[in-house]
Amino acid sequence: MKLKERVTLVTGGGSGIGRAIALRFAEEGAHVIVAGRTPAKLQDTVAALGSGRTKRCAIQTDVSSSASVRAMFTEIDREFGRLDVLVNNAGIGIDDFEQFNRTVEARGREFASGEPMRTRWNLTQEMPDDVWHRMIAVHLDGTFFCTREALRLMTRTNSGVIINVSSTAGLTGQEGAPHYSAAKAGMLGFTRAVAREVASQNIRINAVCPGFVDTPMSEGYAPAFKRATMARIPLGRWGTADEVAAAALFLASDDGSYFTGQSLSPNGGIFIS
Ligand code: NAD
Repeated sequence: MKLKERVTLVTGGGSGIGRAIALRFAEEGAHVIVAGRTPAKLQDTVAALGSGRTKRCAIQTDVSSSASVRAMFTEIDREFGRLDVLVNNAGIGIDDFEQFNRTVEARGREFASGEPMRTRWNLTQEMPDDVWHRMIAVHLDGTFFCTREALRLMTRTNSGVIINVSSTAGLTGQEGAPHYSAAKAGMLGFTRAVAREVASQNIRINAVCPGFVDTPMSEGYAPAFKRATMARIPLGRWGTADEVAAAALFLASDDGSYFTGQSLSPNGGIFIS
């Protein structure tokens, strides 16, 4: 019971990594609030959490809207009066898998045939403003809006833990995803700065940087891309949402009590620094 009676909030808790974190936190005795855009998915997670002694609930929110985030925290304050753990997990992935897969496959064919690589990404020069802004809004604005509200609750008790779900894309850059990589790297800078700011109030903030993980977000990758990435992963496979949840639990619990401003990267060895 590593999170006994702690009030925890997981954004994007309706699927994938967020759902796995919510399940893990509930098993460890936490009160669990899952937040996200789609009520049906959130209710599904709440049902999977079962009916323990602690509370489980869902709040519909769009993390990219400060008004929506503020309304969510008002509700949390009213229902629970405190927040012990925030996981900024909500996120979006590549918007145009068709183009991504086409480019990866064409480059793979050129590479295998030994011909000069003629297929270019051209993503950055062709990216419309709205695609860039949406990516930054969900990951970076969302992390800021939720962290700002969470700190207002956590500084009342002078305790708390925040975990930002970044990515290896934020550490190394991911081809085909400049906006995603920028957003995830931004989350790491934010994590480090806020860690310094709030450490004296006994609040820890860390990041988790997963590598490739099987979730609904990664379903659009072509099998050829999946095989190519597996060949680059020393452990020879993609990760599971449960393996990311284990890292989040470590940081959220007292086991991670001397960690702040850090990033833990469950990535099978694809990035070793
Ligand atoms: P997912 O699509 O299953 O989960 C993302 C969740 O965030 C969804 O439930 C979605 O509804 C929610 N969401 C999206 N926009 C939102 C918004 N504006 N407001 C509230 N909720 C919103 O994908 P996942 O793989 O579980 O992703 C979880 C996190 O892990 C993301 O931040 C993602 O970038 C990160 N990540 C994923 C991988 C991977 O390979 N799957 C790797 C590294 C990092």
